[in-house]
Amino acid sequence: MYKMRKVFWDNPYQHSLLTKVAFVDGNQLLFEETIIYSFSGGQESDKAYINDLPVLDSKMQSNLIYYTLPEGHRLSIGDTVTMTIDWPRRSRLMRLHFAAELVLEIVTQKFHLKKVGAHIAETKARIDFEFGEHISSIFEIILEEYNKIINADKSIQTGFSDIQTQRRFWKIDDFAEVPCGGTHVKSTKEVGFVTLKRSRSGKSIERIEIKLIDDSMESPF
Ligand SMILES: [Zn+2]
Repeated sequence: MYKMRKVFWDNPYQHSLLTKVAFVDGNQLLFEETIIYSFSGGQESDKAYINDLPVLDSKMQSNLIYYTLPEGHRLSIGDTVTMTIDWPRRSRLMRLHFAAELVLEIVTQKFHLKKVGAHIAETKARIDFEFGEHISSIFEIILEEYNKIINADKSIQTGFSDIQTQRRFWKIDDFAEVPCGGTHVKSTKEVGFVTLKRSRSGKSIERIEIKLIDDSMESPF
């Protein structure tokens, strides 16, 4: 059975890859391997190119990622291509993604609030909770715990919890193990410090907006 190797899991820092076309159906293509993350778990898709063609869209189906290229791409099965991603964007997405996961985990562990939504974009992340009070009342406690974890520079381990279904997890010793198929940086220090801002997104729904304090791009190597 054909399996697309997802290099963004093995090496989330890789921003260029030589691979081959595995399947073509009009402007939808599969590749033997991929570094191009496709929207899931609230983390936005990468901006990416196949040779010099922009990837217009992508969708996940049965653990395969179909990439949409412009009409007239002229690629066929077996062709060798260079895949590249917009690394500064991916770097910010990865760090904000993990910042949001840490905030969520702290809120869940300490306050047992119910998450009702989340989204990770390039410049900010947001998480929505059911909460009858101002969510800013718990920011100090969240940030104290958050900063402790960042300062400790803990290693972020990732792996498969089920290889057949490609279920993934991340783990920080003595803190949490969380199911997630996103891309993750190697350690908490890389994620960096954040600011939190309250906004209301509905009746009894409180939103936390998360921004990186230093969102300059990390070196990929
Ligand atoms: Zn994650």
